[in-house]
Amino acid sequence: FDWWHASNLEGYAPICLGLEDFYTRRLYLRIQDCFGRPIASAPDAWFDVVERYSNDNNKTLKRTDKISRCLNLGSYNYLGFAAADEYCTPRVIDSLCRFSASTCSTRVEGGTTTLHKELEECVANFVGKPAAVVFGMGYVTNSAILPVIIGKGGLIISDSLNHNSIVNGARGSGATIRVFQHNTPSHLEKVLREQIADGQPRTHRPWKKIIVVVEGIYSMEGELCKLPEIVAICKKYKAYVYLDEAHSIGAVGKTGRGVCELLGVDTADVDIMMGTFTKSFGSCGGYIAGSKELIQYLKYTCPAHLYATSISPPAAQQIISSIKVILGEDGSSRGAQKLARIRENSNFFRSELQKMGFEVLGDNDSPVMPIMLYNPAKIPAFSRECLKQNVAVVTVAFPATPLLLARARICISASHTKEDLLKALEVITQSASFVPDCISEILNRVQ
Ligand code: PMP
Repeated sequence: FDWWHASNLEGYAPICLGLEDFYTRRLYLRIQDCFGRPIASAPDAWFDVVERYSNDNNKTLKRTDKISRCLNLGSYNYLGFAAADEYCTPRVIDSLCRFSASTCSTRVEGGTTTLHKELEECVANFVGKPAAVVFGMGYVTNSAILPVIIGKGGLIISDSLNHNSIVNGARGSGATIRVFQHNTPSHLEKVLREQIADGQPRTHRPWKKIIVVVEGIYSMEGELCKLPEIVAICKKYKAYVYLDEAHSIGAVGKTGRGVCELLGVDTADVDIMMGTFTKSFGSCGGYIAGSKELIQYLKYTCPAHLYATSISPPAAQQIISSIKVILGEDGSSRGAQKLARIRENSNFFRSELQKMGFEVLGDNDSPVMPIMLYNPAKIPAFSRECLKQNVAVVTVAFPATPLLLARARICISASHTKEDLLKALEVITQSASFVPDCISEILNRVQ
């Protein structure tokens, strides 16, 4: 089963979020089709439209029949900035008044405000690189940058579970693509050795450039990247390291600086640092951080910089302000408290789920916790039962996961209280007991 290609099948949503009604129903119907099982239509298993998010990480959902307040266990609001914040929100409002919601211009045609300049400096400092460039969307950051930094004659070696934006960027680049087994440094080395040494004299290097692409935390697995080993291998074979920190920047590390800080990797050893602002910073957009030369080159050549409207000024202000809070530059210790809280919450929730007998993927400190349900037919019932008790979870199935590895993916936030987590554990246990264990039945059908 070719997962690399399956995750890009046209017409499928990568994540069965429930928010995307259209897609979930479509995915749902396909599951029904491929097993021939009469799974009754279950629109109530998904939460339809969100009316508001609140500071306590609840969301008010407008569902088909009623409005309800649900504990949010599904969003990437790792540090709780995706709600009104005493430091960020007034500054965001002020930036809206000064600059409006959009610059209506590209970066090179008047769309670079003082906020954009400040943001790029702030991001470069935060991630520990000499320079950075920001884009209006995280997805576009990967899919537009890869084709600019590598092309025909180059080689991309990509983790088999890399995000769809990386897959698309890699494909669009025209470079040769090889995939290594998910988070397996020994397999990466095997692929590199094959690609470099295969029958060639030691001095011959068949590729113009080699880029190894990995993620800091894998969003469907909750695993931390084995970055120290991967960096060592890349050094040995002179390959560039491209690290997507969408889920790790802000969320892990003593001061929130991501997997390099957590795993003791020198940021100088990671050539291209990519990340998004849509998770820990409660905003939108993405960044690339690297050497001054790389960033200048991207600013001159990347179409997404030259031809796309610049990131919205209030979104930029939200990022600057949230980074200030994280670093304690707002004059409070809220940032440090948030970082301590997300770590405590994540480790507590993971260990409680494991004690209860759930199979949970991922590593300690990671706020992403997939609970394995296996059978895709289980996910509507699980999601519906949680929702009935006002807990909103995201369920994920094919094609975002292999067919029989469906899961509920819990995302923990610093804004969850202990009471929230205890309630969630109770609801998850109860909901799991409603879900029939029909994995063997499904397997029989598939065989
Ligand atoms: N990279 C990874 C690893 C992601 O998980 C995502 C989205 N969750 C993106 C990139 C795209 O980011 P955005 O949603 O900010 O566009």
